[in-house]
Amino acid sequence: MVVILYLIVLFDLLPEFYYNCGNVSINKEVTMIIIMERNATEENIQTVVDLLELHEFKVLVKQGDVHTVIDALGDKTTLSPGRIEALDGVKQIKFIREPFRLASRDRKPEDTVIEFSNGVKIGGANRPVSMVGPCSVEEDYEGLLEVAQAAKELGCQFLRGGAFKPRTSPYDFDGLGEKALQYLAKAREATGLLVVTELMDSADLDLVCHYADVIQIGARNMQNFKLLKSVGKCNKPVILKRGAASTIREFLLAAEHIMYNGNEQVILCERGLKSFDSAFTRNLLDISAVPVIKKYSHLPIIVDPSHGTGQRYLIEPMAKAGLVVGADGVMVEVHHNPSQALSDGKQSLSIPQFKEVFTRLNSLIDTLHLEKSAPVLSVE
Ligand code: PEP
Ligand code: MN
Repeated sequence: MVVILYLIVLFDLLPEFYYNCGNVSINKEVTMIIIMERNATEENIQTVVDLLELHEFKVLVKQGDVHTVIDALGDKTTLSPGRIEALDGVKQIKFIREPFRLASRDRKPEDTVIEFSNGVKIGGANRPVSMVGPCSVEEDYEGLLEVAQAAKELGCQFLRGGAFKPRTSPYDFDGLGEKALQYLAKAREATGLLVVTELMDSADLDLVCHYADVIQIGARNMQNFKLLKSVGKCNKPVILKRGAASTIREFLLAAEHIMYNGNEQVILCERGLKSFDSAFTRNLLDISAVPVIKKYSHLPIIVDPSHGTGQRYLIEPMAKAGLVVGADGVMVEVHHNPSQALSDGKQSLSIPQFKEVFTRLNSLIDTLHLEKSAPVLSVE
């Protein structure tokens, strides 16, 4: 407590390290707490202090009974914590604030709401949205249109479908490319649904932007930093899917990359993690990530129970679970003929199943929407 109060005082005294990124300014200042080993020598401590001061950090050394602790405040981009960590006698470095800045609730307490030209909104107190469609867009346009029309009738707002598919095996169908994008655009024209599709390669950015309303970055590319940089520079909203073995902090830092490069319209998507038990489910859908992310970030988050479970019968219960814990929407795979689907048929609903499941999901969404607009009690 004393440490924190002291750091707040320090904070006020320090010069500010702001720089501009698009239309936002970022405070690059960090507060590091460097804990020295119990047997660290005076010389070890002085070396750390000298290095920090050389990089214009404000430093406070506190001699504890067992450990010496050094509080340091300054611009982390001029001195990486790794360099301090590597010095003799340094036990551990802790940070007061989360490393993601633009994505954090500290910077922006109110929820980010992403609005589309047709009035659809994602995030905040808005009604949770539904994004549905086949895993891959296939040759049969009529099949895609059938799904899109059912989606429209059920009040869904987005048609999702892959044109460029990341496939584990090089022998699997990897998408129709531009033809699929054209099909999606044609289905948008027929139904008014907004189009979501995945971008796998920066070289296709202009092409995908031309057809899509929302660009998806898939789980496999969550840490493809060059790709994140390219979508950061475009002006379309981005759905960022959580990597199958990524922590929540890594997930938010990936979003930070997009925002840092100038695009603040990021929608997060929890789509399940690799777990030790894949006997019954393809992935482990991390439902708790939704309220955790809501606590630490202002960005909207949706859940994808299709990839999150790999099982058709689990779509409804897990979509409901995600919505109940506060998700701003769901992404579900729907195919006109799942048993013939070229990818992910097992986790896709058929059109009759889609109608049944979404009739029930919609009534849950209606109820939750009423609650979402009501004040929420804050429990720490
Ligand atoms: C998809 O949405 O079709 C997809 C490939 O998802 P993920 O990146 O989550 O595996
Ligand atoms: Mn899929």
